[in-house]
Amino acid sequence: MTVQQQILEAIKAYDTIIIHRHMRPDPDALGSQNGLKRIIQASFPEKKVYAVGGPVEGLEFLATMDEISDEIYQGALVIVTDTANSPRISDNRYNLGDKLVKIDHHPNDEPYGDLVWVDTSASSASEIVMDFFLMFEEELKLSDEGARLLYAGIVGDTGRFLYPATTSKTLEIAARLLTYDFNASDLNREIDQISMNVAKLSGYVFQNVEVDENGAARVLLTQEIMNEFGVVDSETSHVVALPGQIDSVQSWGIFVQQPDGKYRVRLRSKGPIINEIAKRHDGGGHPLASGANATDLAECEAIYQEIKEAVKNFSNAGE
Ligand code: AMP
Repeated sequence: MTVQQQILEAIKAYDTIIIHRHMRPDPDALGSQNGLKRIIQASFPEKKVYAVGGPVEGLEFLATMDEISDEIYQGALVIVTDTANSPRISDNRYNLGDKLVKIDHHPNDEPYGDLVWVDTSASSASEIVMDFFLMFEEELKLSDEGARLLYAGIVGDTGRFLYPATTSKTLEIAARLLTYDFNASDLNREIDQISMNVAKLSGYVFQNVEVDENGAARVLLTQEIMNEFGVVDSETSHVVALPGQIDSVQSWGIFVQQPDGKYRVRLRSKGPIINEIAKRHDGGGHPLASGANATDLAECEAIYQEIKEAVKNFSNAGE
């Protein structure tokens, strides 16, 4: 039996299914989690299906979370989507269930769970969930709302089909989702729209990005700057991609100071591999999009030096 068949059998076998995703959710975390919830609900209306996790931080137009007690985990199937390692799973009760399933598209650094389906060639976890639906289309149902959620996840993780993880399969799956009844242009607008404060912060990012001779770039967003612009950490997701629009930029880091003084580091790249850097600094992620943590400015500096090194080696290798 393939792992996909085993996952379907597990879903059929359990009356209660609880779905988790990663902390600080993005559209793919919420889309894959709640898209799967909708598929299971539509296909097996007698089952109890919950989507749990911490605050959805500005993405309420996609989903709100279910609040459940610990007892509900007894004898339940737990599925985690879009989360490479267990410390990043939002709501640490994920191991209170009877059986654990991991569905993800990040490198499989920690194959937690009784059943593990990881496909790093998929653009997003939402693409994998849609793949699952299509594999068992005769037995499963997908509602319009489920399709909207999965589409949002794919749009979010591919930067509207811009990033290299976008494949012909991604587009086929997206095309299939568009056959359902939801307003994709409204959805795209909701994902894309920014507040005036974030618009002004975007100006700051472009004004202050530092780029070296090979295209290694960095932006430092201190608490002082964040307060000056009136933005919070979750809103930095709207400025992360901006340095990549600059032609001379190859790889970059956005260093976001947190209220406790430490830094959340958001790393992105057009070619040089940066997840190895993230892994060395309490993080991880995809080869071209990852996240790390730095305790102080000295560690931020060290990370930037590693980005510079990666970009230099990449450009030398290409010559
Ligand atoms: P972000 O900059 O938070 O949008 O993260 C980009 C990618 O890196 C996402 O796929 C995240 O799941 C992953 N990522 C971010 N932070 C971490 C972390 N601390 N540990 C492992 N993966 C991370």
